[in-house]
Amino acid sequence: MLICVSVSPFLVTSLLGKGPLLAIYRSKLTVFIVDDKLGALTSCNISSSDNGFFLRFFYFGCEPMFIWKNIFVRHIIPSFFRSKVRHKGRKYLLECRILDSFKLKLSLQVNFMILTKSRIDLFELNPYEPCPCDSGAKFKFCCYKKAKASKPKRIIDLSYSDGRIHNFVKQFWEKTDFHTCFAFNKEECDDLIKSAHSIQNNRILNRISKDGHLYTISSTGTKEGPVSYLNKISRNKASTFFGFCNIHDTELFRPIEKKEYIGESIQNFLFAFRAHAIEHHKKLRKLNSQKNIFIEFPFTMLEKEHIYVYRVAQLDVRDCSVDYEVFKKDYSNANFDNFRTLYRKLDFEVSFAACSSFAVEYDLEGNIMNDIYSVGYEHMPSIYVNVYPTSGGTNILLSYHLNNDGTYKNYFDQLEKLKNEDLLKYLNFLLIQYTENIFFDPFFIENLSEKQKNSLLKSFDSSIYPIEKAILISKGSYYKFNLFEKNMDKSDS
Ligand SMILES: [Zn+2]
Ligand SMILES: [Zn+2]
Repeated sequence: MLICVSVSPFLVTSLLGKGPLLAIYRSKLTVFIVDDKLGALTSCNISSSDNGFFLRFFYFGCEPMFIWKNIFVRHIIPSFFRSKVRHKGRKYLLECRILDSFKLKLSLQVNFMILTKSRIDLFELNPYEPCPCDSGAKFKFCCYKKAKASKPKRIIDLSYSDGRIHNFVKQFWEKTDFHTCFAFNKEECDDLIKSAHSIQNNRILNRISKDGHLYTISSTGTKEGPVSYLNKISRNKASTFFGFCNIHDTELFRPIEKKEYIGESIQNFLFAFRAHAIEHHKKLRKLNSQKNIFIEFPFTMLEKEHIYVYRVAQLDVRDCSVDYEVFKKDYSNANFDNFRTLYRKLDFEVSFAACSSFAVEYDLEGNIMNDIYSVGYEHMPSIYVNVYPTSGGTNILLSYHLNNDGTYKNYFDQLEKLKNEDLLKYLNFLLIQYTENIFFDPFFIENLSEKQKNSLLKSFDSSIYPIEKAILISKGSYYKFNLFEKNMDKSDS
């Protein structure tokens, strides 16, 4: 059995290939293109010829084609390719010739995705910025020489077996872990940092576990690229992270651990804060993972695709730090009324529990609230989500901090108007799209059909690989499962 490892698919991408900007697998080439225009997406077939290879692609975004033409002509990573775009109706033919350093095995599948807002500083380390190895010295005077001298190579040898790749990825992720306490009164901390549950073990996970186990969705690497799978893990490990000391794990969360939810402000605050803490910890780990890649493979410090991953991780961490300061201020002022919380209670138990925070991309009318592909420097606020079964019912809590009314007020107005039935349909999508911290009753997972299981995993993947979304929609298996089925295992209790 595979041991619990929840790896960011982005990490898998960086390890296996060349990072999100240009990830080359044996059978898959993913190109991310950066431009000031809105994002769009297409898929491609690729075939070889003596002069290079041809990409035939079509797009199903809503952007006018001139964007495509301009982007490809101007931006298709000119250092890697010489390209020329021709188009017939809605089909475009992009001819690419590979320049020297790339010898690709052909018959590739290509995904294109356009990112927004190109900025050169996103793709290069500034000589005078702190070295990513955390030495405290400036890059130019620290690892720069080493980076220059180290030879580019594939980080994971694709002749490895899938099992070996899995172990490599798992060990790499384990090395990013660290202990901290996110509580606000650090002077009261205990020395012992616990493996704290972000979802209560005894009252919640216990309800949905079977023989002490439950399922989560994990990612790992294979020769073909990253894959997600249903991972059976012990409930004692589920949802845990080293984010609170022994004292604070108990003391700070007493109002939600020892008492049912009754809508008190402090409870709303703590549910949101715990959802923040686990994601904050994970974002720091993702940043660590890219730093570790830099340290172990110094040539990556000069590679655009790795630096891009590093920049995104830095921005994520920065967003978390901004949010953390807001929690801290409210806490020290004992002001817990700053969260708008949407609460719904269902009269049946669901078969899963989730606790997470994330920046939502679109509201219910399709307006962009956070441009998640933007790599500009704007703050992206999060919403906080907790869904869990209680005895004979299910609690749903969604919230945001009132500082972020500008981003989320309309969205929450829309959500509040939804009938339960529609809200659940929407949450079915939202949770899988944005959350890794979700755990399922084995009874539920084991009773899904193969088609539903596949839909669950691929829909999860579609949040990272938009191309999956198009494939799923075309096959009619996008979100063809219902997380909010009544837990039949509990129906007699
Ligand atoms: Zn260094
Ligand atoms: Zn502490």
